[in-house]
Amino acid sequence: PEHTYAEQTPRSKSWIEQAKKVMPGGITANIKHFAPYPIVMKKGCGAFITDVDNHQYVDYLLAYGALMLGHGHPEVKQAIDEMFADSGTLLFGAPHPLEVTFGHEIQQLYPSMERLRYTNSGTEATLLAMRIAQAYTNKKRIAKFEGHYHGGYNDVLYSVSPTLSEAGPADAPIPVKESKGMHVTDGEEPLILPFNNLTACERLLRAQQDSIAAVMIEPLQGGFIPATDTFIAGLRELTEELGIVLIFDEVKTGFRIRLGGAQEWYGVSPDLTTLGKVIGAGFPFGIVGGRKDIMEVTSPTTGSDVFDQSQSTFSRAKDVVFHSGTYNGHPLILAAGLKTVDVLKRDIKDVFARTDMLKDELEALFVRKGVPMKAVGIGSIFSVVLTEEDIFNYRDLQASDLQTRKLIDLHLLNEGIYTKPLNRYSLSTAHTEREVERTISAYDRVLSRLFGG
Ligand code: PMP
Repeated sequence: PEHTYAEQTPRSKSWIEQAKKVMPGGITANIKHFAPYPIVMKKGCGAFITDVDNHQYVDYLLAYGALMLGHGHPEVKQAIDEMFADSGTLLFGAPHPLEVTFGHEIQQLYPSMERLRYTNSGTEATLLAMRIAQAYTNKKRIAKFEGHYHGGYNDVLYSVSPTLSEAGPADAPIPVKESKGMHVTDGEEPLILPFNNLTACERLLRAQQDSIAAVMIEPLQGGFIPATDTFIAGLRELTEELGIVLIFDEVKTGFRIRLGGAQEWYGVSPDLTTLGKVIGAGFPFGIVGGRKDIMEVTSPTTGSDVFDQSQSTFSRAKDVVFHSGTYNGHPLILAAGLKTVDVLKRDIKDVFARTDMLKDELEALFVRKGVPMKAVGIGSIFSVVLTEEDIFNYRDLQASDLQTRKLIDLHLLNEGIYTKPLNRYSLSTAHTEREVERTISAYDRVLSRLFGG
């Protein structure tokens, strides 16, 4: 496919050469890179994106799942336009009424988020969640799962995609740094847990309970590999017993598994939750929320700035968790997010139905072609996993046929079906049966080319 790929995307190719003179590797976020070179996109409309060579693609990447209403949804555009017309970018550095309106909406959908704070990305949200848990428990270490991604910094940038030869035994994984230049300055490396293995998690956590502040988890690994019911319920019980804060990182799963996230699907309440992607409606955004008594450690009214009326003086106590940012709670983003929730309340069932249809038709097609495949996922996200086995964790995924999956993905790009090779599929309200059918025929052609039949 590389031959066709280069023929179809000459402008992307020369753009990347130019870009290398501006940005290291020609890229501003390493995740945008893939071999032989990424396709440069210039426009999006509904379920479609258009590249610089004017090819149109059905977009299943949707900015890593962020755009659940597709590109340029008219109602979101209108909400933004109205706010913008009112007072420009609306950035005051002061509280804004929408912070509360928006928060009420989130609390309705995520009852475990009794108090919440806004951040500027999912990464910032998970960093803040960890700091809150550390302050609340007065413990330091974070436990996270092998193969789970929570952002680009600190304790969570371990063992996201480790090489298995370096990763230790399956039931006691060792922490593997994801990046050069990381150094442990404050405390130890994180404890790495095996996903969907409750017995091992219990053994590892009990041994370290006095040092572990929080367990952070993607309730569905990568947004698509579900925790089993017994695993997630068991983890909830165990962390509660051990005095460890349980953090659900729902940056991918929020609004996509169910409107109320994976916690609605499982009926399990974490202590803290992080949200991002969908709720930012395409803007940089994140939320941290959870139990009132835990979240209150960030409250300035309980610490940092106290007015003593009898003496007319201000004093400052330092027992509060620092959380600030110039852009936190940006009203334009809140308006877009609120509108997104409105639209999803009306249309989310259609997105689920369309996703199920695509999964079912793909699985049937792969059966016809005699190629083992499972469409793994719940709600509006899934991934195409080339395997006959059930998939429970990172190591299972590594054992599937990733090489062939990449090859299929590259062929699909030439057929106008876009996701970054190996990435999961996310759907939007803009994906109709027509796009599903177009996708199935593209797959049909690609599988025939690769496997005959
Ligand atoms: N947590 C999860 C589960 C994510 O999927 C991501 C982003 N892929 C993040 C955190 C980080 O979010 P952001 O890219 O907005 O910093």
